[in-house]
Amino acid sequence: KRVLVTGANGFLALWVARTLLEQGYAVRGTARSEEKGKAFLDVCRKYGDQIEYRVVEDITKDGAFDEAVKDVDAIAHLASPVSFTREDPNDLIIPAVKGTMGVLRSALKFGTNVKRIIITSSCAAVMRDVKAPGSIFNEDDWADEAIQAVKEHGKEAPARAKYRASKALAERGAWEFCEQHKDEIQWDLVTILPPVVIGPPLQDVSTPADLNLSLHEVYQAVFTDTLPAEALKTQYSYVHVRDIAEAHIESLKREEAGGNRIIVSAGTETIQRTRNRMCKLYPEMYASGTLPRGNPDDVGDFIWTYNTDRSRRILGFSYRAIEEILRDTAEDVKLRGWLK
Ligand code: NDP
Repeated sequence: KRVLVTGANGFLALWVARTLLEQGYAVRGTARSEEKGKAFLDVCRKYGDQIEYRVVEDITKDGAFDEAVKDVDAIAHLASPVSFTREDPNDLIIPAVKGTMGVLRSALKFGTNVKRIIITSSCAAVMRDVKAPGSIFNEDDWADEAIQAVKEHGKEAPARAKYRASKALAERGAWEFCEQHKDEIQWDLVTILPPVVIGPPLQDVSTPADLNLSLHEVYQAVFTDTLPAEALKTQYSYVHVRDIAEAHIESLKREEAGGNRIIVSAGTETIQRTRNRMCKLYPEMYASGTLPRGNPDDVGDFIWTYNTDRSRRILGFSYRAIEEILRDTAEDVKLRGWLK
């Protein structure tokens, strides 16, 4: 079976592609340039003739994926901008929405073998403005307030609202497309919704500045002393990149996954809690002052969490623990020589 993986040179997509290859699938990646396509081939070179790529220079163009979807059995669509610094929300929303709709339209026209399409959405598409501490979000939630904020305030909307709106609009568009075309399509849709994805990068990075956004944020929060004290109480939810790769593959394999939106999140932390856990795992690096301790007794509270019952039920998931995630990440950071 051959799977099309879009944005194949990215952090998550490389893990998805590699895990597919390990399990005997063939993978066709898309990337925006020959150079990025070759970077994907390079990471997966061990799998020789099971991998190939197509250059899709501009995912917003009509028919951009027409060639790429031919002769594939499934599609995992991951190409989408991830940034909290774009001023114009359309820089995120247009590629997110048009890229997603483009994949679906091409699959409708030319994906005659396609049986399932997986779209990597995000917990960002779920997260609502929290009304009261103790909120638990699930797959019925949509980031409508973020969409509204962008509509009302445009460039002045909060940075994260722009990203959340891009993911929510793209995912909602995908579900609407499936509903509108349900009598014509021979495939079904699964959307995977991760929170902050952590783990060793497979992409070529030589300095922390080259990291993709989620890893860069974790690197700054845990391995540098650049955050103000108040920010250490910021909460986030996390998942191991290996679990996200497996979630994509389980979503392909399991018939019952079709038609589901699935939150794939291992747990919730604050940055200070993470630092405290790291201190237990690597006491020597804290004793020597290599890693910043923060305020160990002021860990902060959780205001919201995610209900992940659906992932456990449908994907048969039991998640890698935070300690394993931190150890895998810290060992990678050490290997790269990024610690003093
Ligand atoms: P990366 O930045 O590592 O990869 C993003 C991929 O999308 C790259 O291939 C990139 O191509 C491509 N891309 C970005 N902008 C555009 C654009 N305008 N047009 C075409 N392609 C584009 O990010 P991640 O691997 O972290 O993210 C992959 C997917 O997973 C995204 O859809 C993201 O929203 C989602 N996700 C990620 C999470 C995380 O914590 N990392 C959490 C939840 C969801 P290029 O290299 O050419 O820029």
